[in-house]
This record gives sequence, C-alpha cells and structure tokens, in this order.
Amino acid sequence: MNTLNRLIILAFSVLLISIMITSPAAAKEIKLKGKNVTDYIPVLKKTKQRFPSFDPQTKLHVSEVKKNLFFVTDGVYQSAFLKTGKGVVVFDAPPVYGGKLPSIIKRYASDEKISHLIYSHGHKDHIGAAKVFKNIKNLKVVAHKKVLDSLKKRKNPDIILPNTTFEDEFTLTVGRESIQFRSIKNFHSTDADTLIYLPRNKFLIAIDTISPGYAPFKEFEVTPDLEAYISILDIILAYDFDRILTGHLGILGERADIEQASAYVQDVEKAAAQAIESTSLEKVFDVVYAALKENKNSDIAYRYYLETLTDKCSKQIVANWKDSLSGVDVWSDGHCDRMLMYQLMH
Ligand SMILES: [Zn+2]
Repeated sequence: MNTLNRLIILAFSVLLISIMITSPAAAKEIKLKGKNVTDYIPVLKKTKQRFPSFDPQTKLHVSEVKKNLFFVTDGVYQSAFLKTGKGVVVFDAPPVYGGKLPSIIKRYASDEKISHLIYSHGHKDHIGAAKVFKNIKNLKVVAHKKVLDSLKKRKNPDIILPNTTFEDEFTLTVGRESIQFRSIKNFHSTDADTLIYLPRNKFLIAIDTISPGYAPFKEFEVTPDLEAYISILDIILAYDFDRILTGHLGILGERADIEQASAYVQDVEKAAAQAIESTSLEKVFDVVYAALKENKNSDIAYRYYLETLTDKCSKQIVANWKDSLSGVDVWSDGHCDRMLMYQLMH
C-alpha cells in the first residue's frame, strides 16, 4: 500500500471514529431495572432552582451560610468549617474534594489556624481525605469512641485516628463556639452515628439522613435499622435549627426538608401497609403455581408475592411524590421493599 493510500485510510478512520463519538445516533439504550433510563423523571425544576453555584476553577461551592460558618460542596458531597476565634474547626473531609480543603480554608479563614477536625461518622466516603491535615501541629481529631475502634481495625492510611473521643453526649468549646455532640442509635452506620449541633448558629449536622430536594438514597440511606431511621427525623425536628448539613448532593437543607422527609417516610409506611392488605398471598401462590405447572417452587411464588407488593407500593409513592421530590422513581422501590419486609416481620 502506498503512502497516499495509507493516509487516505487513516484520515477516513479518524473521521469515522469522530462521527461515532459525537453522533447522538451512537448513544446506546441503557436500561435500569428494565426501564430505559430516558423514561425516568428528570430532576425537578424546584430542585434545580436550589442548586448552588460552583467556582469554575475549584469546581466547588463555598459559602458563608452563617456568620463564620462555611458550607462546602462539589454537588455530590458536603462538608463545613467554622471559624471560632481560637482556630478553625473542620467537619468531615470527603475524598472527592478533600485535597482542596486546606487551600480553601486558608482562603476563607486566613487569620486562623485549623485546630480541630471532626468526623461525623466512620465512613471513608466522608472522612477519607483526613490525611491532608496530618501535618497540623496539635490538631485535635474528634470522633465517637466506637468510630475510633473501627478505624483502628480498618487501618486506612488516608484517615488520621481520632485523639479526642466521646460517648453518648459531649460538648466541645472552641473560642466563642460550643459544639454539641449526641450519639444516636445507628440510623446509618454500624458503629456510631452522631448529631452535631451548633446552637449559636442554629445549625445541625446530620450526615447521611436525607438529601434535600430528593427522595432518600437507596433503602433509606442504607440504614441498618429502619426503626432508628424513622425516629432520627423526629429527633432532628426537636432541635432548634434552621439549616442542616446532611452530607450529600448540592443543597444545604432547611427545616422544611426534614419535615418533608418525615411525611415521605410516613407515606411509604401507609403505601406498604395498603399493598399488604390488598394482596392475597394465597391467590398469588395459586396463580404462580398454575403457571409453573409441575414445578411448585415456593421460592418463586413468594418472590413473586414480594415483587407484587413492592410494585403496588412503589407505584403509589411515585404518584404521590413525583412533583415534590426528585429521584423518587429511582429509589421508591428500595424504600417500599425495606418497609414491606419490616411490616411483614413485625
Ligand atoms: Zn455514611
């Protein structure tokens, strides 16, 4: 093949590849739980309107949401830092943007040194960038005693071990600020979950409880204890707060978001109960066994019964909440599934 032919083939290949990459016709149909992803409800306008703006350089949003209290998010994770007059207190260090935190804090709190790093809980997706603060002299790393115990076992080199621990309730005073810690029965983690309250600012930190503007994440924030998850929302509402940091997506929460989440959970309870009440186990088994003919496999029949319940509950929840919360059709089946299993067993 002469050089000209080679060049023509090469040019043609480059053109073809670029057409394949840029052409919308090349987009593959992707299914999620048997449904085309394009058939899911888009993020609601009312949710989008609450999105913060991001710095094009850092790709982060940083704002002083209360006097001396800064909210940080990349649109997926959230954290905060507080100037106390006697040092900056940092709340969580998510790995997705934790590397940028020291310079961000320096920019917004240039007159104070970082004195405390607080872990909301022990999950690495929220504290996995802690090592960026490891060279700070006399840094107090604060966490629940059970979080220290599990971090010791996990030996994650990116996470500094806490040197100040607490159990149940604890108040930390730094400069003009008092920071109140309250350990709560496991609504999310398997070791310890903590609510962190800044009374002066009426600000609450309750990580992995809800996502403002959205339906709760997978199976109620992957709770190990559904009763604990249901009660955490009431515990939160008993606090005197107006802003709440919940750890995920880009929106800083308000009291109304927790009230809405509480109403959502109650509605799932109701829809699950209705699904159980309106579905006859015997009838479902008869229908499935008739279809199975000789193979009377009870696993198949029971699984079919559970899926029937989940479908009924989930359809009801989507109908009730599709205009109020984003992502409800993405997660409602997980919420219903979890609630149904709870109700069938209690
Ligand atoms: Zn977590």
